[in-house]
Amino acid sequence: MGINNIDMIPFGSFRLGKIYGISIEINYTWFIIFGLVTAALAFAYFPTLYPQLSVGVTIVMGFITSVLFFGSVLAHELMHSIVAIKNGMEVKKITLFIFGGVSQLSDEPETPGIEFKMAIAGPGTSFVLGIVFGLIAIGSSSIGLSPAIFGPFVWLGIINILLAVFNMIPGFPLDGGRVFRSILWAGFKDMKKATKIAARVGQGFAYLLIVGGLIFIFSGLLDGLWLILIGWFLNNAAQGSYQQLLLRDSLKDVNVEKLMKADAEAMPAGTKLKDAVDEYFLKSNKAVLPVVKGPKADLIGEVRINDVQLIPKSEWEQKDIEQVTKPVSDEEKVGLQENAMNALMKMSETKADKLLVVSESHLKGNVYRDDIMRLIKIKSRLSR
Ligand SMILES: [Zn+2]
Repeated sequence: MGINNIDMIPFGSFRLGKIYGISIEINYTWFIIFGLVTAALAFAYFPTLYPQLSVGVTIVMGFITSVLFFGSVLAHELMHSIVAIKNGMEVKKITLFIFGGVSQLSDEPETPGIEFKMAIAGPGTSFVLGIVFGLIAIGSSSIGLSPAIFGPFVWLGIINILLAVFNMIPGFPLDGGRVFRSILWAGFKDMKKATKIAARVGQGFAYLLIVGGLIFIFSGLLDGLWLILIGWFLNNAAQGSYQQLLLRDSLKDVNVEKLMKADAEAMPAGTKLKDAVDEYFLKSNKAVLPVVKGPKADLIGEVRINDVQLIPKSEWEQKDIEQVTKPVSDEEKVGLQENAMNALMKMSETKADKLLVVSESHLKGNVYRDDIMRLIKIKSRLSR
């Protein structure tokens, strides 16, 4: 489906693996759509078209077709991501979820040309897959193979073409909306203006889906519910993408250093567990504290109070915090010179309200979500 910079995906996800260094994640909501597609194919679509096949056969067909379908969705997203990476962009992950797939980038493309190529790569892939599956279907049915073989390819061919067409609707943040934006952007030489227009068209299309869905439901077709859900999602995505662009714009010259507070409480390496609890955890009232070493405060890790509690109290006076020190993950820290928007995005991903600020592995302080939000508010008031 789309290429996005924000995380609009609900609930939890787990990692399936990595392809070309891109993390592939499956959101739990994806199992709903996988189940629905498999069931619809196995119990409705295939039995209606090919009544001569047994239920056992259509169930296997449904399952295999569904796997190939989501494989096609993944191929679509991968092509977006590969083109993005080839053009110097960073792709955080690809997530499959209830409404398809999303490639999450950590930044906007730099030029309209890059955006155009990146956006068109997805629908282009779906289109080619549609043709290939269609040819396999025609080939296998013309040499007299069973519908159990060619049936899935007929459906895969049609659905991939439909996927290409749906995604080319010119409403941001659908792929077509990105293509549309890149053309407006090249014309106006103004990305903000282009995004505003493309997002409006996207919202217009979303409302159309919702209204269409309501009409369906009132005429007794429950499928309308699906249109309403997709419309609602697209509307949120269009609004979210534009708002995020405004945020990024207002923070474009602000780096973490400007907003950082040099108030990071840290424990020196070698601190005994007893002192860590009495002097640091109890006094600071925090559940996690960083550990530093040397005069320049090299960040060597962090300690969670829960891990300290796993060690018997009788050993707290002998053992030091290195016993329970764990490395600080990239999600918990940000570089001093990084853009404040990156810090904000990291925090919104992990629902954290602050990050550790580091410079060449030295701990410098904390950056807080509230401080970034306050600056955004002030800036938006000034620009009105
Ligand atoms: Zn796409």
